[in-house]
Amino acid sequence: MRAKHKTIIAVIIFAAVCAAIALPSGKEQGVKRSIFAMDTYMELTVYGHDAEAALDAAENEIMRLDGLLSTGNLSSEVSQLNNKKSGVLSKDCRYLFERSKQINEMTDGAFDITIYPLMEAWGFAGGDFRVPDDDELSRLLKYVGMSLVEYDDETGELKMPQQMKLDFGGIGKGYASQRVTELMRGYDIDASVISLGGNVQTFGRKPDKSKWKIAVKNPDDTSSYIGVLSVMDKAVVTSGGYERFFEKDGVSYHHIIDPRTGRPANSGLLSVTVVCGDGTLADGLSTALYVLGMEKAVDLWRSHSNEFDMILVDSSKKQYVTDGISNLYDSEADYEIIY
Ligand code: AMP
Ligand code: MG
Repeated sequence: MRAKHKTIIAVIIFAAVCAAIALPSGKEQGVKRSIFAMDTYMELTVYGHDAEAALDAAENEIMRLDGLLSTGNLSSEVSQLNNKKSGVLSKDCRYLFERSKQINEMTDGAFDITIYPLMEAWGFAGGDFRVPDDDELSRLLKYVGMSLVEYDDETGELKMPQQMKLDFGGIGKGYASQRVTELMRGYDIDASVISLGGNVQTFGRKPDKSKWKIAVKNPDDTSSYIGVLSVMDKAVVTSGGYERFFEKDGVSYHHIIDPRTGRPANSGLLSVTVVCGDGTLADGLSTALYVLGMEKAVDLWRSHSNEFDMILVDSSKKQYVTDGISNLYDSEADYEIIY
């Protein structure tokens, strides 16, 4: 590791939330659309001849996926599965379940879509926040674990214990970004940037041929940024406890659950940003690495450095950037490069 210092101009940082803001007016500005879905505010910008048609298709696709994956919607595929405890999965849910299982294995169980009963217990499912006691958590933890799910990858049939419920919230937005980006590439467009909550995915280059600039949020103050990443054809996904949390008796409890303890992950990281060509993997990994903490995240990166890169922010707000993207990252603070 070695320290590196770079400076950035504040204007670039603000413009970088949505790279298109920095572009000149007229044809090169792209066509924008804002959508509220998957419990989050989404912004899509598309450049090229068929931008409007591509955006229509994108919006339909996001709504379709929201209709499959939303735990808050009783008629969604996931809700039905959580209710009936068995079923034959749709093509999208098969893909998501299988990818979730791979990421679960890759991260030694840190990523686990069977945590939904814990999300409910802490109140993140309905907004009725509370702190469950140890007995309740240990009772719920007995039925957390992807190995308890019976799944037939030939037929897509899934069976789970009565007490279990699934939640694709840690991977669904990344999958949606990936799907929508692939779908829009089928239209006559030159480039696109979509931002679904903390998930950004880019295709092609900006009209001036430069790379997209994606801001990495300051986990302590989400109206500001700690750095800017220049990327092309990549997903940039950030997970952090600051995204959803509540406070009780002066303690803050956030929405990323450590499947080993049943409690909000307390690994010493404030945020994890994953950069990867595959939006689904980027999303699953950002959640998992936040649970795993610095040391295990670095070990995992070292054995998969051809698959993803990352930016970690620790509790003292120090940044760590993996070697694969260190020359694409600008921050006015010092950061360490991980090799
Ligand atoms: P993200 O913002 O992508 O990190 O996802 C956070 C969401 O993922 C939470 O709101 C939950 O729906 C879900 N989640 C929480 N903890 C985990 C975990 N350990 N593994 C998988 N999904 C999780
Ligand atoms: Mg995630």
